[in-house]
Amino acid sequence: MTRHLLAALVCAVALQSAFVYAGEPGDLLRKAIRERRAKAVKTETAQKAPAEKIKALIIDGQNNHNWRATTPVLKDILEKSGRFSVDVATAPTKKDKEADAEKYKKDLASFKPDFAKYDVIVGNYNSSETGDEWSDETRKAFDGFIKNGGGYVSYHAADNSFRHWESYHKIIGVAGWYKDANTFGKYVFWKDGKQVEETTPGRCGSHGPQHEFLITVRDPNHPITKGLPAQFMHCKDELYDSLRGPGENLSIKATAFAAKDKGGTDKDEPMLMTIEYGKGRVFHTTLGHAAEMLRSVSFITTFLRGTEWSATGKVTIPVPDDFPGKEKPAFRQ
Ligand SMILES: [Zn+2]
Repeated sequence: MTRHLLAALVCAVALQSAFVYAGEPGDLLRKAIRERRAKAVKTETAQKAPAEKIKALIIDGQNNHNWRATTPVLKDILEKSGRFSVDVATAPTKKDKEADAEKYKKDLASFKPDFAKYDVIVGNYNSSETGDEWSDETRKAFDGFIKNGGGYVSYHAADNSFRHWESYHKIIGVAGWYKDANTFGKYVFWKDGKQVEETTPGRCGSHGPQHEFLITVRDPNHPITKGLPAQFMHCKDELYDSLRGPGENLSIKATAFAAKDKGGTDKDEPMLMTIEYGKGRVFHTTLGHAAEMLRSVSFITTFLRGTEWSATGKVTIPVPDDFPGKEKPAFRQ
């Protein structure tokens, strides 16, 4: 009896299915599956295909650091990631000035990189105390580029540059203009679990002897720092301290402790920062004094991710497997 009932039920279900599929021919169903599969493959291809390259421009030409050695390495790091295409704009140099001061003056006045062609500018230019600043026109174009949504990366001593250019101070947030600038803006650092500011008189920009130091991530949810270890060992480098400036819309992403016995301030000083300037995004890294520091995985990774974020507001470049932990720095050849 039960068996008969079961058989009847099976028949009924089969009959119903036959009716359902009677209105939907097999080839139509196959076509739908084919289309769905094709769509899935297309989506997968789109995800795997390299995104359009970010256009970056490195600016150098003057710096109290060896820009001739660092610029090619910065360019190489960006290009090897596969994410960037990179041009370099070299402003007239000190050597040019020594060779022919008149020509130099003219050339510097006509130094006008076409910022608008790029997504992000990387600053390896430091007019410092003895260099020269760009023309009003070029400075205005640079300022407008960032205000309108362009990216800027202030790399190491680029934050010693343009001490007489107010907008630049706002763009990079805090800077190092040496000891005589002791009333310029505020110090920004990390204390008791949060970002703090101080306006006490004191030096503006300093560092002790080079040493390895531990970097602590302070905002693990930002695209640049997301996925990095909470702390990682950076290579022997200059640990910048006492940077000060307008500090508007500045957010500390990672710090390092500037120990007194290493010539520091006894404070957790900002190493990686972001600044919002108009619609633009600025990444400020104090790391990377010389070409040898640019081989460290901590520099390479944070520089790449910071530059990508500056350009697009997002980070797709992953944290690599050879990224250092707390114990020792990591290097690439
Ligand atoms: Zn340096």
